[in-house]
Amino acid sequence: MTDVALVTGASRGIGRAIALKLADDGFAIAVNYASSAQKAEAVVAQIVAGGGQAIAAQADVSDPDAVAGMFDAIGDELGPVSVLVNNAGVTDDGLLLRMSADQWDKVISTNLRSVFLCTKAALRSMLRAKAGRIINISSVSGISGNPGQGNYAASKAGIIGFTKSVAREVGSRGITVNAIAPGFIQTDMTASLGADRSDAVAEQIALGRLGLPEEVASVVGYLASDGASYITGQTIVVDGGLAL
Ligand code: NAP
Repeated sequence: MTDVALVTGASRGIGRAIALKLADDGFAIAVNYASSAQKAEAVVAQIVAGGGQAIAAQADVSDPDAVAGMFDAIGDELGPVSVLVNNAGVTDDGLLLRMSADQWDKVISTNLRSVFLCTKAALRSMLRAKAGRIINISSVSGISGNPGQGNYAASKAGIIGFTKSVAREVGSRGITVNAIAPGFIQTDMTASLGADRSDAVAEQIALGRLGLPEEVASVVGYLASDGASYITGQTIVVDGGLAL
């Protein structure tokens, strides 16, 4: 049976690149999305056209019932999830004194509660199989902080603590749990920076440019591979030398 990978937020950006990479590596892919049905179906179609196996899986990953329904559907259609990539995320920036409680809750819920819910759901079959890979997409904001991103940085720092704790909990059962902290990657999330701000950001990066989604996806591919069998609890920074 083909191993199954669930990538949350795989309709666009980094998640899409991760889904395509893991499909290339031979996994059957569940392409989760919140509202971009056409884009998710296009990712599925691209994988199937390349000879792979994929389904679209709509769910708001911050909603416990939706997550439970999604895991049931994936189990029925593809089989148990053996690689979980917690990638779905949003920003809703604002200086702290102007940040509303709703802005705080929305970002913490989408970025962090989702990781708790999906990891818990995926662990059931992974513990039975005594194998599994969980890969959480954090951010350099969660390591260094970023003005205007108190909510986002807290969610991404939370992911790093969660990663280390769960790695300790499930390591003896053959399951690894790691995080990736990307810097500035060219996606819809960073498109709002505009050309001037992007140039200013690029000057702060040792490699002198923003990263590509594929440059994060290749590290996910490695962490999901046999070669990464003795790596757990780690956060791998993929930022072109931004946070040195
Ligand atoms: P993006 O282009 O804005 O895509 C976000 C993805 O998340 C979309 O597929 C979206 O689905 C999905 N999503 C949002 N809310 C969701 C929810 N409640 N349930 C399910 N899916 C949901 O973002 P990106 O730049 O690729 O970022 C991907 C991850 O990398 C995020 O966790 C982000 O924080 C992290 N990251 C990004 C950067 C960067 O520079 N881009 C840097 C560091 C970390 P729909 O299309 O259906 O809305």
